[in-house]
Amino acid sequence: MSTLNIAILPGDGIGPEVMQEALKVMETLSALDSSFQFNTEELPWNSDYFLTHGQMMPDDGLDRLKKFDAILFGAIGDSRVPDETTIWELIMPIRKQFQQYINFRPIKKLNGISSPLKEEYDIDFVVIRENAEGEYSNSGGRLYAGAPQEVAIQNTIMTRQGIQKISEFAFQYAQKNNRKKVTSATKSNAIIHSMKLWDEVTKEVASAFPLIRFEQNYIDALAAYFVMRPQSFDVVIASNLFGDILTDLGAALVGGLGIAPSANLNPEKEYPSMFEPIHGSAPDIAGKNIANPIAQIWSVALLLEFHDRKDLANIVLQSIQQVLIKREALTPDLGGKGTTADVGNAIVQALQEF
Ligand code: ATP
Repeated sequence: MSTLNIAILPGDGIGPEVMQEALKVMETLSALDSSFQFNTEELPWNSDYFLTHGQMMPDDGLDRLKKFDAILFGAIGDSRVPDETTIWELIMPIRKQFQQYINFRPIKKLNGISSPLKEEYDIDFVVIRENAEGEYSNSGGRLYAGAPQEVAIQNTIMTRQGIQKISEFAFQYAQKNNRKKVTSATKSNAIIHSMKLWDEVTKEVASAFPLIRFEQNYIDALAAYFVMRPQSFDVVIASNLFGDILTDLGAALVGGLGIAPSANLNPEKEYPSMFEPIHGSAPDIAGKNIANPIAQIWSVALLLEFHDRKDLANIVLQSIQQVLIKREALTPDLGGKGTTADVGNAIVQALQEF
């Protein structure tokens, strides 16, 4: 593999704290395996940057980012800046401009993590969420603001092409990774236009993959199945809104926000993809050195897997797994007394012992 050029966007709050540990892990990997080489450039685009410059990133920010192979993102959010600004002026432009139309989230219960569910299920599936259109389009508006007759309209945008691309990605992923079943989250009994199109197109794509089982579940029932039989899922595809909710539920089943990673993928690799923990900037614990860096480190594993280094991704995951089983260095969210750096260092040590 040639040298990977990675843009580092630590962001706000605990973002820089957990990013530091992720960088340690990447440096360790590179020292252990000379075929893994990378360059990083840290970009200081966060809420402080906004307060100083009046924008979340410079005018040529996207042009600069475009030159990288990947973006490793920490977390964004600060009470001094509206969420709308941090999200719609930084995260959304990156996702949309770089056509990161897949949001990929593994929901895997690692040993050493206790689930809030009563039974110890073997939970190991992925949710593939549509990331570019759907319910989170900014199409709509308000009329008669503040008046009794005020109206708000929020449009859902579903396109045949968009649904087709995410469905094909899901089935190809299933095929490549020996997954047996794809489950589609729908609500076409009540949302009779956009979700009907979703159902039609997902089914059409499914027919080209006869060896993979396909099922369509209404989102309300599916949420219950996540809790009642989470071991029964392999690959779940969902629209932007449904996927957003399902993945937080999924993350809660397997250890919570401190663990869960995600990837915003441009599968064609025409643009950089972005890898980030699903948690936010966690202002309540920022600066205390107790943030769990595992979600950020697992995001590095997703980055490696996407860039054809599944071997290294597996080693990172196994090292995380070892640290969780040993329970010697865990942050308070997992019941430990360790610091962010303790967990990072323990994962580095586990890597070195491989
Ligand atoms: P956002 O709107 O950006 O998602 P939020 O405040 O709703 O922000 P988070 O910032 O993810 O959500 O934090 C939710 C809770 O989870 C907080 O109590 C936070 O301390 C905790 N949390 C989030 N990430 C971590 C982490 N890496 N380690 C430990 N606790 C975390």
